Amino acid sequence: MCAKRTRVLIVGAGPAGATLACLLARAGVDVSLIDRQSDDHAPRIGETLPPAIKPLLLRLGLWEAFLRDEPLPSYGVQSLWGADTPELYSFIANPHGSGFHVRRECFDAMLRRAAREAGATLSLGIRIGAVERGGRGFRITSAGPRPQREWSADWVVDASGRSAAMARKLGATQKREDRLIGVVGFFAANPEPGRAMLIEPIESGWWYTAPLPANRVVSAFMTDAALWTRSASQLDRWQRLRHSAPFTAQRTGTERPVRPLLVTQAHSGHLTEVCGPGWLALGDAAICRDPLSGGGVYEAMRGALAASEVILTAPDSQARALADYSAAVRRALSAHLTTRRRYYALETRFAAAPFWRRMTQAY
Ligand SMILES: Cc1cc2nc3c(=O)[nH]c(=O)nc-3n(C[C@H](O)[C@H](O)[C@H](O)COP(=O)(O)OP(=O)(O)OC[C@H]3O[C@@H](n4cnc5c(N)ncnc54)[C@H](O)[C@@H]3O)c2cc1C
Repeated sequence: MCAKRTRVLIVGAGPAGATLACLLARAGVDVSLIDRQSDDHAPRIGETLPPAIKPLLLRLGLWEAFLRDEPLPSYGVQSLWGADTPELYSFIANPHGSGFHVRRECFDAMLRRAAREAGATLSLGIRIGAVERGGRGFRITSAGPRPQREWSADWVVDASGRSAAMARKLGATQKREDRLIGVVGFFAANPEPGRAMLIEPIESGWWYTAPLPANRVVSAFMTDAALWTRSASQLDRWQRLRHSAPFTAQRTGTERPVRPLLVTQAHSGHLTEVCGPGWLALGDAAICRDPLSGGGVYEAMRGALAASEVILTAPDSQARALADYSAAVRRALSAHLTTRRRYYALETRFAAAPFWRRMTQAY
């Protein structure tokens, strides 16, 4: 088999990988981007973007493309965290204006399109197989089904999200802080769904609900994996829990979700090493944040800016650039974990319940 030669191979075409591919290709670097998903429009989770996304998209020259997908403005977060009545944390004083609710599949597809237009080679439906160090770079093969694909690359980048599929093959290990999962449903919108994300804790977890473009509402129940059983009756349980959260039930109405529930990992965690000679991890592969932070997509794209600077650094300064990158990721992780710990400790009404005990204790 003849290996395709590329300077940088990026595994994962989510916000982190697609943004990095776009930046590198614009800088004239030969870059290949692969993703295991073959359907460009398969449903994706994580739909609310903070106001700071606007200057980032402007900097990337993607603001107009973003607006073409008709995102909804998000005016803030309505929260019942530690409170019996909702409090609005408005974006009104934010210098960047409102945040946005997007269809994530459209947003991610827009970033991949930008990467392709910049000259990156995008291959969908390809899962990373083996990664070997050799010569002056890496040899990478795809996992089955056949025919296998093979690349040789100077740099390999792990942007594969929570799976950190590439970094683990290079020997890095993942540390988890908890076992949070999200059980996610989509609804046809109520006539007035509200333009702020709603967060509502209950005894066994917490709910977030947000309006989406095209008259949809997303509602996700966040709980501990050990407290949730995937079974034929999970929809009934999910509906009962939704109705036990009165503000969430009001936002989503009484109807059943319009498509089957998605169950997804949502734990906080990180890689013990995020880079080494010729490789780095970014986005959720490096640090996965509690969805409560609402900043996963933004942080993944900002991580791409930092990663592009490392890869574009002259070879004799690269060791220093990698050390700085690693230190910056460690600082970001420490800030996230501190905020997360403080935030969960603020909800004291259910402190004795297993979910809240687990989220406030070390895992
Ligand atoms: C329930 C939930 C709600 C969330 N809500 C929000 C929100 O409202 N706002 C927000 O900003 N963030 C939110 N997030 C977080 C956000 O979705 C992530 O932080 C963001 O998607 C990270 O981007 P990424 O590119 O690093 O990873 P991902 O978006 O996960 O992309 C990784 C890509 O890698 C591919 N891949 C994985 N393994 C392999 C492999 N072995 N081979 C090839 N390809 C592979 C995947 O198919 C995927 O396309 C939420 C997360 C969860 C779980």
